Amino acid sequence: MKRIGVLTSGGDCPGLNACIRAVVRTASYYNIEVIGFMRGFKGLIDNDYKVLDYKSVAGILQRGGTILLTAREPRFKEYSYRKKAFENIKNLGIDALFVIGGNGSFQGAYLLHKDFDLNVIGIPKTIDNDIYGTEYAIGFDTAVNNAMEAIDKIKDTTMSHERVFIVEVMGRDSGFIALEVGMATGAEITLIPEYPLPIHVIEEKILKAKEMGKGFAIIVLAEGVASAKELAEILNQRLKDKSIGEIRYQVLGYIQRGGSPSAYDRIMASKFGVFAVEKYMEGNKNFMVAYEDGQLKIKPLEISFGKIRIPNIQEYEINNILSL
Ligand code: ATP
Repeated sequence: MKRIGVLTSGGDCPGLNACIRAVVRTASYYNIEVIGFMRGFKGLIDNDYKVLDYKSVAGILQRGGTILLTAREPRFKEYSYRKKAFENIKNLGIDALFVIGGNGSFQGAYLLHKDFDLNVIGIPKTIDNDIYGTEYAIGFDTAVNNAMEAIDKIKDTTMSHERVFIVEVMGRDSGFIALEVGMATGAEITLIPEYPLPIHVIEEKILKAKEMGKGFAIIVLAEGVASAKELAEILNQRLKDKSIGEIRYQVLGYIQRGGSPSAYDRIMASKFGVFAVEKYMEGNKNFMVAYEDGQLKIKPLEISFGKIRIPNIQEYEINNILSL
């Protein structure tokens, strides 16, 4: 009987469990045994694993987080530890390793292929949705929905008190979450790192909202642009004589990353998992699952290294047309 390994690595996100379930159930369907490694690459090095069968993944589809736990493991950057990891994989008779992770995890996995000729397969996940080579990564849709729901609530207060409010969303260096959340909440201003706006333009937009009799404005701020605290301080200083009132801010933080995955994430994670196992069974090696032009594809794992995806300008323009 063939054996494969699976792990989750890097930051957690909703949909990881749905993907683990899909990998395990597809493997079971085709009579392949699955070993789940705990805490990402840490579990490979420490030989910490459990056998995952059909039943062991019951009831997890709708749960956030990951039953395999996840971690960042600096030791994996050292050859000696990767060798140890490979010895463990070899001793368990594992034929291929499925890594549900971001591009950092894919780089780590690729080294197992390069140094030891292990077949490694990447399944993309990150709420930031910036992995190069795929238009979708597991977790993004739920993060957008989580942020949208929170901003809808903040908007009630903002409108009632006629305030200007800055809401900082996640995304690290990338603006995908902010862009989609800005559109979904009808934000007056959306600030993303890929298309920066000078401070005087932001100021003009706020004043325009006032002139239009709006009384309030929501600014969705990607964390990669600046901190909400910093931006609020600057704007409060610059607009202090303009009868705007105090500009307040909220950092949404980890609530964006947790909770039950959206239907879209459950479905995409399931499709990614099934597709990855089936493509492996067809004999493909060292690939990542990619979603492009509405289709699932496989691409060389290394395609995602050293590059990140950026939002297209048309999406950004839509926000501009619909906001101020
Ligand atoms: P995300 O950033 O979306 O949370 P990620 O997979 O990009 O996911 P990283 O923290 O970059 O997250 O990487 C996860 C783990 O992958 C690291 O802790 C490390 O164990 C391994 N890794 C990352 N880069 C390398 C590398 N260049 N060489 C070896 N291992 C690496």
